Amino acid sequence: MFWAPVHAYLLEHPTLGPILIDTGISRRQTQPDYYSARKGGLTGLIWQSIDNWLPAEQELVAQLAHHGYRPEDIQHVILTHLHEDHVGELYRFAGATVHLAAAEWADRARMGYSPGYAAITRWHHFTYDGGRFYSFAACADLFGDGLVIALPTPGHSYGHMSLLIQMGTYQVCLAGDALYTLRHLDADSLAAFNYFGAVGFATQQDSVRRLATLQVALPDLVLIPTHDPFAYTFTLIQPFLADGQLSPAERAALQEYQQRLFDSRGVLKTEAYPRFEQVRQDYGRVHAPLP
Ligand SMILES: [Zn+2]
Repeated sequence: MFWAPVHAYLLEHPTLGPILIDTGISRRQTQPDYYSARKGGLTGLIWQSIDNWLPAEQELVAQLAHHGYRPEDIQHVILTHLHEDHVGELYRFAGATVHLAAAEWADRARMGYSPGYAAITRWHHFTYDGGRFYSFAACADLFGDGLVIALPTPGHSYGHMSLLIQMGTYQVCLAGDALYTLRHLDADSLAAFNYFGAVGFATQQDSVRRLATLQVALPDLVLIPTHDPFAYTFTLIQPFLADGQLSPAERAALQEYQQRLFDSRGVLKTEAYPRFEQVRQDYGRVHAPLP
């Protein structure tokens, strides 16, 4: 076990207002009995090892308040997938339209728990009807304005989706769990844990390669993973995005960080490999050196 962050994102759309992307974990998920009742199989094992930590100021509602919003102000929620750490606070947004790939919805029985989607009455289970988008054979322009583009990145879950957001002169991609960390962008060097065995692994590798190719086509694209516990998230992305945008200097710093990790062919340098250090029998730290 090691520590990793769980992120959700707030997008202030020029005409649609605040849009929430994923909903993180909830307080009830931090209670010890929440997971201990679930036993059996690989997912049971994973659940037994999860130890969620959520200080009051990091709860989603508190963070929305920090930006001047109440849950009822959120008219749109977009979910990258239905895993528990992405739908924990979904029940608070019963008045919103929730956008989720139809393929992920169709596979919801596999999740093995009942995430907070019972409260949701307005669903947009979208399909990818938007034609090719660079390295992706199809996309979905969620609001018809070209600003928020859903890209199919299956593998981590059956209908996993990543989101490309047009920010004007540049783009950001909220990769969801298609990319655990930025280092996972080299899908041949760093394996991502996968629930579906070899088939899911190959599918996820394909999704990651498409994201890498997309960034080659769009050099001003910033990739944002959900669970990166390293400096990329905490020294760069998080403080940079606090004002809702990335300045040219901030984007240059992100690009420089990425260039230090990968060689010119996109291969992760061995000096940048994350290293696990055991601290206790069931707990350790991951170090990620920056060459
Ligand atoms: Zn996740």
